[in-house]
Amino acid sequence: MAHHALRILHAASEAVPLVKTGGLADVVGALPQALKAMGHDVRVVIPGYRKAIAAAAKLGLTWGEHTMTIEAGGVDHRLGVGTVEIGGVPVHLLACNELFDRDGIYGPSPSNDYDDNARRFAVFSKGALALPGYLGWTPHVVHAHDWQTGLIPALLERGFNQALPATRSVFTIHNIAYQGAVWHFDMKLTGLDWALFNPLHLEHYGRLNLLKAGVVFADRVTTVSRTYAQEIQLAEYAFGLEAVTRGHSYKLSGIVNGIDSDAWNPANDKHLPASFELKKLAGKKTCRERLRDELGLVPDKRACLVSVVSRLVEQKGIDLIAEAVEPYILAGRMQLIVLGSGDVQLEHRLSQLQARHPGWVHVWYGYNDPLAHRIIAGSDLFLMPSRTEPCGLTQLYSLRYGTLPLVRHTGGLADTVVDVASGDGNGFTFGPVDLGHFSSVLDRALGLYEHFPNDWKAAMKRGMKADWSWTHVAKEYDALYRDICVVQ
Ligand code: ADP
Repeated sequence: MAHHALRILHAASEAVPLVKTGGLADVVGALPQALKAMGHDVRVVIPGYRKAIAAAAKLGLTWGEHTMTIEAGGVDHRLGVGTVEIGGVPVHLLACNELFDRDGIYGPSPSNDYDDNARRFAVFSKGALALPGYLGWTPHVVHAHDWQTGLIPALLERGFNQALPATRSVFTIHNIAYQGAVWHFDMKLTGLDWALFNPLHLEHYGRLNLLKAGVVFADRVTTVSRTYAQEIQLAEYAFGLEAVTRGHSYKLSGIVNGIDSDAWNPANDKHLPASFELKKLAGKKTCRERLRDELGLVPDKRACLVSVVSRLVEQKGIDLIAEAVEPYILAGRMQLIVLGSGDVQLEHRLSQLQARHPGWVHVWYGYNDPLAHRIIAGSDLFLMPSRTEPCGLTQLYSLRYGTLPLVRHTGGLADTVVDVASGDGNGFTFGPVDLGHFSSVLDRALGLYEHFPNDWKAAMKRGMKADWSWTHVAKEYDALYRDICVVQ
């Protein structure tokens, strides 16, 4: 089949390396570059937050001569257009003093939103759709991410930019817990017809729901794993949006995120004391010994080295870990390393565990990327009993580093980890979130480690062999874009 390059505009509120509060930023940083490597003409647009502009300035940011004027609710905003090239992809920053020149991204602190977020992201969404005119560059596809850009598919479909009659839209949900449900009078900021403020379109229980706008109006909707695409159609996972996702399931699909396979490569990882790869596993042993040393763990080689690198919150099932591990530690079957921070009570329980088992449990509170690499490289088993997990990255890092993941069968974990019981698995999985199920899968994992080292090694190798790179993932998005584009 002939392969025509597409012009693709990614619009999002975050992109690595300019601004990041979560996994969205990693996707928007990596996917455009992988699409570009396939030959597509790709651009990215993000808001010109104070911090993003400062970061871009160091990478050669230049400013366009003119500004764009964007109206919202009868007020005109002037948007400056900054451009910086990152990995060969032009990234545009829409600057606006009164909206984005602030210290925070979504609010003055992580738990507080700015009062004018509806205006900020309505203006950004309109600006993203005006950008093609400014650049003289007409995209075949606008790919919008999360609630901040949910208005883009709606505005596009309703003809906000008359010069984009053939441009199609893709909308990706990275986490359905965040929906941008705002005051109904914010409808006037959108410029869309009040008639659309009804439950089939923009209204959700009396509020304007920006995520819903994206789902309803986009040509295609994706989430970050196939299983999560199913889960968000269920009340347990959808935070009230299940009827909407179910109603639009005909255009909904899941594509698992890739990983940065340069930064997370055991054969060439600057944070490790020794490198290793599929055919040369000796370095992993060195990593394991040095890790025990670094964290003051007893060098008991019989004990399985078990680790957690995570936000320490209930969503990640950290409570199950704190509750379950003690008998196995007492029996000398495992040692536990935890890296992360979060919920105070969970931290307290982990500290107690460490106090009761010095030399067998080590908890490191805080964020530490080099240590995360050393832990994932040096341990045998990685725990991730998440209650929900749209995609998850650390289980993929673990697979690549020959560390068997033990995960709950949910979201992206279900798409990437297959239980060894199947005969050709790469880790361990369990279903119901309760102590009994978690404890028994942990027992089973330790049993395999102790008694069937060859099976363990075979599972490690299957995990290390798989390709989790963005190059691979970009092909799936490419197929999706081709499906909806008029130009084939
Ligand atoms: P989530 O986005 O829900 O936190 P993911 O598994 O998708 O979970 O991504 C977590 C990312 O954050 C991974 O890159 C992981 O290595 C990193 N991470 C989490 N906690 C820490 C920590 N304490 N120190 C270093 N890296 C961390």
